[in-house]
Amino acid sequence: MTNHVTELTTQQQQELSDIFGTRVNFKKRERHYYTHDVGTLPPLAKPLLGKTEPAAIVKIGSEAEAVKLIEFANKHKIPVVPRAGASSGYGGIIPTKGGIIADITPLNKIIELDKDNMTATVGAGIIWEQLENKLNRQGLSVRAIPSSAPASTVGGWLAQGGAGYGSYEYGWAHETMGSARVVLPNGEVKEFSGADLDNIIATMGTTGIITQVTLKLRQHEEMAAISAQFPDATSMKNAIQAVGKNNIPIWSVSFLNPAWADMKNRAPAKTHHGHPVDEHRPILPVSYICNFLYPGSRNETVSSALTGVIKSAGGSLLSQDIADHETDEWFRSMKVKRLGPSFIPAEVVIPLANLDKVFSEIGTKISLPVLTEGMVVKGDSVILLCFIPHSELSFKFNLAFGLALSIVKIAENNGGRIYSSGLYFAKKADKVFGDRLGLIQDFKKKYDKNDIMNPETLTGKGTFKTAISLAMAFEPLARIVGNLSGVQKMSVFKDKKDIPADIVGHAYECAQCGYCVSECDQYYGRGWESQSPRGKWFFIKEYLAGRDKLDQKQVNTFLACTTCEMCVQKCQLDLPIEPAWMKLRNVMVEERKQMTFPPFEMMAASLLKERNIWATYRTERDMWLPDDLRAKIKDKADYAYFAGCTASLVEKDIAIGTARMLDDAGVEFTYLGKDEACCAIPMLVSGKWDVFEKTMRMNISNMKKRDVKTVITSCPACWLIWHTIYPDWAKKLGIDYNIEAKHYSEILAERLDVLKPKMKVPLNAVVTWHDSCHMGRAGGIYEPPRDLIKAIPGVEFRELEHNREHSHCCGSVLSLIADPPVANVIGAVKLNEAVDVGAQKLLALCPCCQVQLRISAQKSNINIDVQDLGATVARSLGYDIPDTTNDALVAWAVFDKMIVLMQPEGMADLMVELLPEMMAAMPAPLKLMMKTVKYVPGMDILMKPVMPHMMPLLMPLLMPKVMPAMLEAVTRHVPMPDYMNEQMPDMMPKVMENLMPNMLPLIAPMITPKMIEYIKMH
Ligand SMILES: Cc1cc2nc3c(=O)[nH]c(=O)nc-3n(C[C@H](O)[C@H](O)[C@H](O)COP(=O)(O)OP(=O)(O)OC[C@H]3O[C@@H](n4cnc5c(N)ncnc54)[C@H](O)[C@@H]3O)c2cc1C
Ligand code: SF4
Ligand code: SF4
Repeated sequence: MTNHVTELTTQQQQELSDIFGTRVNFKKRERHYYTHDVGTLPPLAKPLLGKTEPAAIVKIGSEAEAVKLIEFANKHKIPVVPRAGASSGYGGIIPTKGGIIADITPLNKIIELDKDNMTATVGAGIIWEQLENKLNRQGLSVRAIPSSAPASTVGGWLAQGGAGYGSYEYGWAHETMGSARVVLPNGEVKEFSGADLDNIIATMGTTGIITQVTLKLRQHEEMAAISAQFPDATSMKNAIQAVGKNNIPIWSVSFLNPAWADMKNRAPAKTHHGHPVDEHRPILPVSYICNFLYPGSRNETVSSALTGVIKSAGGSLLSQDIADHETDEWFRSMKVKRLGPSFIPAEVVIPLANLDKVFSEIGTKISLPVLTEGMVVKGDSVILLCFIPHSELSFKFNLAFGLALSIVKIAENNGGRIYSSGLYFAKKADKVFGDRLGLIQDFKKKYDKNDIMNPETLTGKGTFKTAISLAMAFEPLARIVGNLSGVQKMSVFKDKKDIPADIVGHAYECAQCGYCVSECDQYYGRGWESQSPRGKWFFIKEYLAGRDKLDQKQVNTFLACTTCEMCVQKCQLDLPIEPAWMKLRNVMVEERKQMTFPPFEMMAASLLKERNIWATYRTERDMWLPDDLRAKIKDKADYAYFAGCTASLVEKDIAIGTARMLDDAGVEFTYLGKDEACCAIPMLVSGKWDVFEKTMRMNISNMKKRDVKTVITSCPACWLIWHTIYPDWAKKLGIDYNIEAKHYSEILAERLDVLKPKMKVPLNAVVTWHDSCHMGRAGGIYEPPRDLIKAIPGVEFRELEHNREHSHCCGSVLSLIADPPVANVIGAVKLNEAVDVGAQKLLALCPCCQVQLRISAQKSNINIDVQDLGATVARSLGYDIPDTTNDALVAWAVFDKMIVLMQPEGMADLMVELLPEMMAAMPAPLKLMMKTVKYVPGMDILMKPVMPHMMPLLMPLLMPKVMPAMLEAVTRHVPMPDYMNEQMPDMMPKVMENLMPNMLPLIAPMITPKMIEYIKMH
């Protein structure tokens, strides 16, 4: 039998590291993120589960690794808990006996597509929505799909069991799967198919690690949708039964009760950078709403027959608008949780024949609102997912939770059962598994002698199981209490522990569904839950509850978000995730005085001194401008070209190309030249909002002096700033802002009639396009750049797999600054997509994306030419535009070295190098005291804890004296261009002044032993 394993020995850690390399994590803090699933347990019941922290997390990269893990676990009798999308709520991913979390999600490839037999063999960790999108491109489709498709995996659905869209036609999840490869608990690998699959279905990772699944497919077809409303559950039931009786070939039948429809209408509107999005959201009638989906080719057979049964059952058709909208929202069922913040869930399977009785009994026995969603499964079973809105912050939440048991009881009274037994309802396993229970138990005895595979998940946890059984026995009593335990004003939150009220609220609203995880580049660049939006919301709740700290490590986690807004796009609750992290950046850096990423301090110093972030002289800013164009620049004009720092100083091809295109298209413009300052987005994302505001004021005022009405940008970040951020800040600060912003592609796409005939030099290349996050998801500008590309002669244009609003981030700037190796991982994802479509050139228009992609291509050795769109168009217009790939690599190499130097380890090394100067600069009495280390035994031991406290007091005193030596040392470590070197004496003291208060506590423990050693030797 396995023990409860919360820590591994050093030897065990080494063994796991030997297998998984960097794909294993032992950090205590990270492990805490893997202690829960989507369910929110009542605080009184939670302690009954005991300590649920794993001892390690591993990311399974292959079947062979899964085998090695199992061998390791058997050797040491350590539990293994498979975890995939983590979208389930039955406790299957909760490590109640500690052990190792085996993250299956790296097994995410399509292994074989057999179009003749209409099957796909896939890695068990592939996410449903991503698989379906890939299949659709091949004209294929899965047969059924869970409504958690953006987060859940194929293996997870087989292991958890269930039904989803398509189950009306194709049955339960496992009925749409042909076979599965499994690493058994004894390390053997076995292929299961047919009746043998019974050993795997819904066993929640207790019978092995599923590594591959073969799915049955269907031809892909657009679905047609019909929605109907019914006055009561009986008429809805009658209609659904009539569909079956009349063999109307429907693919999926799902429904909502009136309470759910009402909540859906009231859910808050989506916002974009704080402004309500003008979404089209039809109002649902507050009644029973049933949605029927079927392949469009069946329209003739289905449409009139279905309409007939709906009408004869007393229902009426809803508008096509509603039907289409409900279909669009098919994976967004939990949107209503925005009105929560918490839900008490109950999920049951009942016979269709008793649907109305169950609704009626719930209505009479439970006085709190019960939001209910239903999915009909082939063979007349119905899955009811019930949510009682509540607040986990109220004590009454504990009491109201009992109502979930009442719903289970009502289902049982009507021939139904709980949906899944899992950790919490282990006593009901016989009802869920029926005859299969004995088979599974025998299988476990035979193959899992050490009980390593997800122990307690099927058998339950002692005290918790007893508590549920007791509560079940006293259900009528618990119901009375539960019915009295409603709460009002659930969504009112206050600022807490420096976290603004709206963010506190969102942390509790977050459903932990995981839609935002897999495509968050901060997450997939690193691979650990703490880095995902879901993890960050979890952190905030833990921090508010006093179980975690908002220390520098966590500050860095928030700062490392690249602001790509993929999470905002993905979140089914429309939570303003990225804007929340943006707000927190400032709270942490300016209000709490925590440290931003050190390179931002260098940028800030450079910006304040020379108006740019590259530590170049301000006088250099307009040197990119060709003389013939300089002569044409207006002093004042309606349009101004705002080039930004990187295009002006590093990738000058962007600025030159843009100016050439505008000029050739007949756009007259002015330009701020040496007066131009950085748009200041680096200051916004670094939390240094005071510098942002100062710079913004300068830029706005300079534009006004030139009577500018429209700012044209080439950089998407500059566009976002001028278009969205400056106006909001101007409004907040009472600044008159009458400026509109356009990207050059918007202006030029409208002038292609003038520009295209001038594009004469062919490119003769296969070209693909990178949609930058700030112009794409943040700005919605997708087509104008494509129009420009397609106008270039000799272009064969191919879209990337993830394009437009699905485009993946390049990884700049924050990954590049926080963690350059991670930036390369993220960049390689994008570059490999370009290689996969056979592109020779990856065009982009963002200077930062281009720096990042060029570096990633170099570091990952990916052979693709990254070029600027504007420069490419200008070349086709006949201009000789320089290729700046090398300039970007050279400029970044300096920053790269500076980043390494400015990390705590780098700064500690630098300080150690400066020990002679530091000692020399010490006041005499202190020097004397230090020397005692050399002569008085035991003094060194005493000094060790004292130094970290002394250093912050000493440093301001020492720094001015040590500065000349420090500047020399920095130059030794970072070979800088002259202009940068010359400015260091001005910039460095300011940078150090800002960094040291937070940096010293981090580096003092690293310096102290070396300092003591130094004193002893001198
Ligand atoms: C918004 C939302 C909608 C949902 N809709 C549906 C729905 O329509 N139908 C439905 O059935 N469920 C639904 N669910 C529940 C959940 O999404 C499903 O149970 C899903 O199949 C779980 O997959 P996962 O990849 O997230 O697995 P996880 O939650 O990670 O794991 C689930 C269980 O399977 C085990 N497991 C996972 N992968 C493996 C593997 N490779 N080998 C062995 N064991 C493994 C785990 O140990 C765990 O016990 C929904 C959940 C949410 C949040
Ligand atoms: S904005 Fe992008 S990087 Fe940041 S949390 Fe969202 S998805 Fe992740
Ligand atoms: S942030 Fe949104 S998508 Fe992410 S887990 Fe929470 S509710 Fe789900």
